[in-house]
Amino acid sequence: MFGAITKAYGALKSIAVGLGITGRAVFQEQSTVIYPMAEVKNLGHYRGHIELVGSDADPARPRCVACGQCMDMCPSGCITVETAMAPAELKTNAFIRAESIMGQLTPAAHFDVMIGEREPKRFVLDYSACSLCGQCVRNCPAGALRFSTHAYFLSRDRADFVLDLKERLAGQAEQARQAEQARQAEQARQASGSPQAEGGRTHE
Ligand code: SF4
Ligand code: SF4
Repeated sequence: MFGAITKAYGALKSIAVGLGITGRAVFQEQSTVIYPMAEVKNLGHYRGHIELVGSDADPARPRCVACGQCMDMCPSGCITVETAMAPAELKTNAFIRAESIMGQLTPAAHFDVMIGEREPKRFVLDYSACSLCGQCVRNCPAGALRFSTHAYFLSRDRADFVLDLKERLAGQAEQARQAEQARQAEQARQASGSPQAEGGRTHE
């Protein structure tokens, strides 16, 4: 009899502890999202497919000087760079790192010829073949490649994973421009409608 009571007490205690843990979790901030109803916003460290980096002077134009190193180096053969002659005014627009991340000095003379002379006409990635090894990002002498945070990328059609990265960069630049315009308009609206702006804190 005493053994049965002890056993029942143990079971009830265990249920109470379990319910306590569950109850606390219900009121904690949720650390997962239910996709596709919600998406993770904090993707700073996500390593998605590669993307082109825009130049400082014009974010819609890639820093890429179409040297072809990434294409030659890619073990999966998933990069295609079509080269075009760049307009002369871009000569000052290229961003060249003196040293690659691998620690090998970039031959300056080689890039003297490249800067402003060439640019990618098309830059195509077949993401369906990419192993995300990072060779292209690490070895690009112009710092023109990085991993994207493009996490929600699903399709049943393999052709959808063939990406024109130059076109994508132009789209991203346009989106960023529109977002900045909207931010500035909102800032101006808030400033004009703000009681503080009218009252003038400067008179305090
Ligand atoms: S992304 Fe870099 S390595 Fe690839 S072609 Fe352009 S400059 Fe060369
Ligand atoms: S990450 Fe690796 S496999 Fe993918 S494109 Fe770059 S070099 Fe090729």
